[in-house]
Amino acid sequence: MSDLHLKSLTEIRSLLASGEVTAEQAVSAALDRIESTEPTVAALLTVDAAALERARVLDASGPDPERPLWGVPLVMKDVLTTKDLRTTCGSKILDTFTPFYDATCVRRLKDAGAIIIGKANMDEFAMGSSTENSAYGRTTNPWDPNRVPGGSSGGSAASVAAHQCYGATGTDTGGSIRQPASFCGIVGVKPTYGRVSRYGLVAFGSSLDQAGTMTRTVEDSARMLQVMAGYDERDSTSVNVPVPDYVEQLAQAGDLSGLTIGLPKEYWEAEGVDEEVGEACREALRTAESLGAKTVPVSLSMTEYAIAMYYIIATAEASSNLARFDGVRYGYRNKDASELIDMYTRSRTEGFGDEVQRRIILGTYVLSSGYYDAYYRKAAQVRRLLRQDFDAAFKQCDLIAGPVCPTTAFAFGEKVDDPMQMYLMDIFTISLNLAGLPGMSLPVGLGKDSGMPVGLQFMAPAFAEADMLRRAHVLEGALPQLPLPKGLA
Ligand code: GLN
Repeated sequence: MSDLHLKSLTEIRSLLASGEVTAEQAVSAALDRIESTEPTVAALLTVDAAALERARVLDASGPDPERPLWGVPLVMKDVLTTKDLRTTCGSKILDTFTPFYDATCVRRLKDAGAIIIGKANMDEFAMGSSTENSAYGRTTNPWDPNRVPGGSSGGSAASVAAHQCYGATGTDTGGSIRQPASFCGIVGVKPTYGRVSRYGLVAFGSSLDQAGTMTRTVEDSARMLQVMAGYDERDSTSVNVPVPDYVEQLAQAGDLSGLTIGLPKEYWEAEGVDEEVGEACREALRTAESLGAKTVPVSLSMTEYAIAMYYIIATAEASSNLARFDGVRYGYRNKDASELIDMYTRSRTEGFGDEVQRRIILGTYVLSSGYYDAYYRKAAQVRRLLRQDFDAAFKQCDLIAGPVCPTTAFAFGEKVDDPMQMYLMDIFTISLNLAGLPGMSLPVGLGKDSGMPVGLQFMAPAFAEADMLRRAHVLEGALPQLPLPKGLA
């Protein structure tokens, strides 16, 4: 059983359910893999030493057919609260924070029998596209240790790609599930806003944030999402729409006949998209067409304003959400301050990193009186137009496809000192969050120049995850499987 780490979530869960593998064996295999790969990948901020004991407890009562993820080792992004397990959000300000409750999606995974083995590194408070903004050092891309894993869910993506776990949670405010999934060659699914409860997801941009899945196959994501999705009275933005049977629908997959894929010209004809990315994505579309899919041109005309809109709305919400980290209620406090305001100032200056401070300043500025109408109100108005773009496009097609990111994973240091360069990386992912719609990244191959993974993005109408997953599952089956990341085989 030395190759247990090579199994998919779907495979390990049936081995566990049939009793061929015990939960203890599954967790031990994951912990061994973590031990051998962490020195290079550094994907995790916390490994839960108690995971083995919890596996033994599960084994004592045996597999439970009512619990669909019984015994499956998973990793959680460190922005989701985990009861009695340190949760830092990649920030020094929460260095010592141990929550007393689980985020709803974490609790649901646990209730389904999953075993949380660790917490994944991330850009501080999910702000970034490379995980270089973490206060706890760099996570490397399992495909090339000189390159970033993407972000902000870079630790989750790297952990899954390095086969440390069978699946991980990520969160996506402007692309943070899809972009690292693309960079690390895995599947990343960002659900419709409101599909997965945000209770216990430490807020960055509350009207944009959504937790989702990061796995090695589409079916694995369907199985995780099945458990995570659903109404939660603790989140007022959670939507009370029944959760379809995602897994069951995959079984009826068939081919892609009857599927119309919309290709926005703003994505396919954009300047600055690396040739190898465009090529790998077009090749995948040709495969989709050979399976019966039809493609039609569509337009998402607001794309050119998406970055401006996003960096106004997200920073405005962040500046207000992050006000709670004041040195009093959670985590880090400067102990030398002589009076209250000084204590706030020093705790926040020392506790937050540069990118977080930059965004708090930007967000405070766009909300300040005198600038509110020019920036925040305007962005909110254009946001509505952007949603209308999507509504119009989905009258012509079932799914929209485009690249996830203009490039494959870039080198450390290449963009981190130039925030504008980094923000431009988000051009193809942020519109979906502004519109509140579901989307995913599907690995479609390796770039011919960089040899790094390329992800194709699918975007779908609200609550159409089942259809999106089913179509992606069919396409996945027809594409060549990626090899194991070099160096970690
Ligand atoms: N890269 C984007 C940002 O820096 C998106 C982050 C995210 O989705 N959490 O804000």
